[in-house]
Amino acid sequence: MNVLVLNLGSSSLKFQIIATDPDRIQKHQDQRLCRGEVERIGGEAIVTFQAGDKAKQKFTAPMRDITSALDYVVRYIVSDKSAVDEIKSTADIHAVGHRVVHGGELFSESALIDNKVLQGIEDCIDLAPLHNPNNIKGIFAARDLLGKDIPQVAVFDTAFHHSISEQAYLFAIPYHLYRRHRIRRYGFHGTSHRYVAFRYRFLRGLTRQQTNIITLHLGNGCSAAAIRGGNSVDTSMGMTPLDGLVMGTRCGDLDPAIVNLIATKEGMSSSEVETLLNTQSGLLGISGLTNDMRVLLAELKEHEDRRVRLAIEVFCYRARKYIGAYLACMGGAEAVVFTGGIGENSPEIRARICDGLQWANLRIDSAKNEATVGREGVITTDDSRLQAYAIPTDEELLIARDTVRVILGLPHPS
Ligand code: ADP
Repeated sequence: MNVLVLNLGSSSLKFQIIATDPDRIQKHQDQRLCRGEVERIGGEAIVTFQAGDKAKQKFTAPMRDITSALDYVVRYIVSDKSAVDEIKSTADIHAVGHRVVHGGELFSESALIDNKVLQGIEDCIDLAPLHNPNNIKGIFAARDLLGKDIPQVAVFDTAFHHSISEQAYLFAIPYHLYRRHRIRRYGFHGTSHRYVAFRYRFLRGLTRQQTNIITLHLGNGCSAAAIRGGNSVDTSMGMTPLDGLVMGTRCGDLDPAIVNLIATKEGMSSSEVETLLNTQSGLLGISGLTNDMRVLLAELKEHEDRRVRLAIEVFCYRARKYIGAYLACMGGAEAVVFTGGIGENSPEIRARICDGLQWANLRIDSAKNEATVGREGVITTDDSRLQAYAIPTDEELLIARDTVRVILGLPHPS
């Protein structure tokens, strides 16, 4: 089955086509036929495209909105220009899997999209006003383009965290606010945490129930998850993806009184403050330089800049603090798993985060750590009781696999 995987941002569209079916899933022989991204939708959009392992193509084209972007992408894929030999017409696309940001309390797993599910995604709009409307547009656009009978599946970023208990998801504010407005912790990056937990137990030959780990997704957005018996029992992002770890441009944990203080002192509205906390904070805010960890690490090496060092230190300290907290909440864990652009590619940040966890019997093996970049592997010494791993995430693969499983009515693997 050729599954078109769609990840729609507010002005971007990431897509892949993955050939997969139950047999390929079993044998880990899913095949990525193409992948790409459209950025700056709404004007002269930038398209990046790659067929299989062939050279990347980059070009621009005017695109009005998400519907026209998806239309452009599908037409390009089926054309000869794309060099995707397996897809010659829209009939060669058999299903669509959507990354949906917010499933609220309604969705605990991926769902075949029908009118009821569409209504559910719509009901969650007030929880993710920037994201869910685009998902809905994407679902309708795919239906118009590929026919009303094309099966479409929604894979929710929040679903994996559905298992966290009230004591972990309730904020200590008047309970009626939870009842009235569903204000609680939902957590995000669920597909990524679930995927690396699955890879971890595959590498270790464990069952789902035996999987007791802390996963750290460190990319532009960052989050931690405590996974006990294969289920998420706590996670660092909250009602929105602003909470928890320090991120590229987001602040993470913050004293809530600071919002009003900044608003008063700086003459800003509360929504302007929220924008500042989302886009001008985190690594960028502290360093005053960039949200790109690669640049920060290079800058630190070359110039020993104080604010760059501080940004990296605050980032790593916060991550370490969450590991400690989750060890306490979970009653111990067997491993810490790093993923995301930073977690997969930066031995230095992994070492900095783990430095100080020797008390928990976690010892980084420098040679293994340095050697594990962009691939799966253990990065701790053999005698560490708490192990650490780096495992590249692949949310699109999990979305494609879920799409197939949901359409065929197969159970989730245990
Ligand atoms: P997103 O959350 O947008 O999917 P990614 O997971 O791609 O983002 O992560 C982007 C982050 O990963 C950036 O801060 C980038 O600097 C960082 N990164 C990528 N490669 C490296 C590397 N080799 N060393 C340090 N940081 C890296």
